[in-house]
Amino acid sequence: MVSQAEENYLKAVFAISEKEGKSATTNAIAATMQTTAASVTDMLKRLADKNLIAYEKYRGVLLTPDGRRIATELIRKHRLWEVFLLEKLGFAWDEVHELAEQLEHVQGDALVDRLDAYLGYPKYDPHGDPIPDAQGRWTLRQQVPLVTLQPGERGTVTGVQDHSSAFLQYLDQLGLGLGVEVEMLERIPYDQSARVRAAGKTELMLSEKVCQNLFVKTN
Ligand SMILES: [Zn+2]
Repeated sequence: MVSQAEENYLKAVFAISEKEGKSATTNAIAATMQTTAASVTDMLKRLADKNLIAYEKYRGVLLTPDGRRIATELIRKHRLWEVFLLEKLGFAWDEVHELAEQLEHVQGDALVDRLDAYLGYPKYDPHGDPIPDAQGRWTLRQQVPLVTLQPGERGTVTGVQDHSSAFLQYLDQLGLGLGVEVEMLERIPYDQSARVRAAGKTELMLSEKVCQNLFVKTN
């Protein structure tokens, strides 16, 4: 049996090692889990005893195939529940994450597979992140931060780098949801802010930070 706390650590190791393409250090895990290095060390021992992580000398830890399978299943459940909450229960995209953090720990393969079928096998969650299928396969998408677009280039909003409520609510205010077409009109040399046209009509001034945290698929 893997406890909820252990599951959350596996997810953290997965997130860190995927993003950086290398093993996760104790300090990086402690920062993600908002805890001390000492409690991380204890937990890593438990996970290694269960053969869910492996130590890399002087570097940190990596998931074993079993650890990776559990982390992938958690992400699959989390993101499917997010789609369900948004599409079927009417929650907003800045509200679904916290609820899915709890729902992802509900056990039951049949439940997850039926949820997946009920939702029509979605490939992306409400933030544009890929949902692994029942075999653990991901559908990755070609997308770039809006900041990389040159004046005159267009793209469609496909995801966010920053998942905070503050950012998602701000995007709502700007009318920049997933699927909205944006055109880069001008980059301001002074502060790297950008003038863009959204949905073919509204002109917006966006800070460099917003442009870095918004992913688009170029047309
Ligand atoms: Zn989430």
